[in-house]
Amino acid sequence: MTTETEAASVRPSVAYSWQQAQWQRLADLHRDRRLPHALMLAGPAGTGKRHFADCLAALLLCLSPVNQVACGRCKGCDLVRAGTHPDLLMLQPEEKSRVIKISQVREATDFLAKTGQQGGRKVALIQPAEALNVNAANALLKSLEEPAGDTTLILVSHAPSQVMATIRSRCQLVDFPIPETSVSLAWLAPLVTGHKPEYLLHCAGGAPVAARDLLQGDVLEQRQELAGWLQAIGQARISPLDVAAKLSGDPLQTVEWMLQWVQAGIRAAVTGVDEGLNEVEAPLLEALAAVPEQIGFRFMDKLMQLKRQLLSNVALNKQLLQEELMLDWQALMKQSALLQQSRQQMVNGLL
Ligand SMILES: [Zn+2]
Repeated sequence: MTTETEAASVRPSVAYSWQQAQWQRLADLHRDRRLPHALMLAGPAGTGKRHFADCLAALLLCLSPVNQVACGRCKGCDLVRAGTHPDLLMLQPEEKSRVIKISQVREATDFLAKTGQQGGRKVALIQPAEALNVNAANALLKSLEEPAGDTTLILVSHAPSQVMATIRSRCQLVDFPIPETSVSLAWLAPLVTGHKPEYLLHCAGGAPVAARDLLQGDVLEQRQELAGWLQAIGQARISPLDVAAKLSGDPLQTVEWMLQWVQAGIRAAVTGVDEGLNEVEAPLLEALAAVPEQIGFRFMDKLMQLKRQLLSNVALNKQLLQEELMLDWQALMKQSALLQQSRQQMVNGLL
């Protein structure tokens, strides 16, 4: 497996293959000195927007770009690589926080108001933009409206609709959709051992970088454990509250996986379950494919609502939320079984 640092030393600051169109457009604008002073790189998480932002920041701060890519050798590139460039600022939530604090934004606006030290240009990278709450966003507005000197703000957003409209409207939106499956698999396959790249990509909702990151830590184990528990709840082999107590991961992750399974189940009701993907998850999808469409959609709505709540940075009681979620799942499975039973009886009555 190629590590991040190895890859970086081989081809510094090159955007991923599926980002070349966006890269060319922005690099041309930069060459022609027409790059907007505020960009918002927007699209689903895990497609490599942050990598793109890093590459772009490196290009903007490079003193002698080669073929519209940072040279990797000049003083600007050295400083960027070392993480000590005085004209590059990263703004992201501090550890264990989902929000960018107003004090952090004030530091950023001070930075943006000063003159650049190396060659004049300054770059601020803000990720994710939806982590700016109302106060933080308002504090940033002035810098967006009246940028000082040669300044570029690169905002990264996984959910542009959640970014305050006043911020969004002042940025040029650059779209990063989920790449084509074949392109993602071609990139992913050489990095993966011990798993099917198709399965990883499926788990990551088609986002290649997220698929690669699934190999780190025990995320995949957590996912398969959850799949097993959900089946066990459906078969009344374990109580929903016991499962809720066992869940240790991020509730947002739990909700996203369940959403993915329910959506896949609804699709599988039409197309059949792709059993080759993963043996642990196939029986779960079988169960979901049998759920009557109407209640499947209703449950999906509930999950989406929960996801929005979790993304909105409102303080939620994690334990309570997980208990409700597992009880809802149990109710879904019971309701589904009853409906299937009564349908069967109706069919039997007709025969
Ligand atoms: Zn350079």
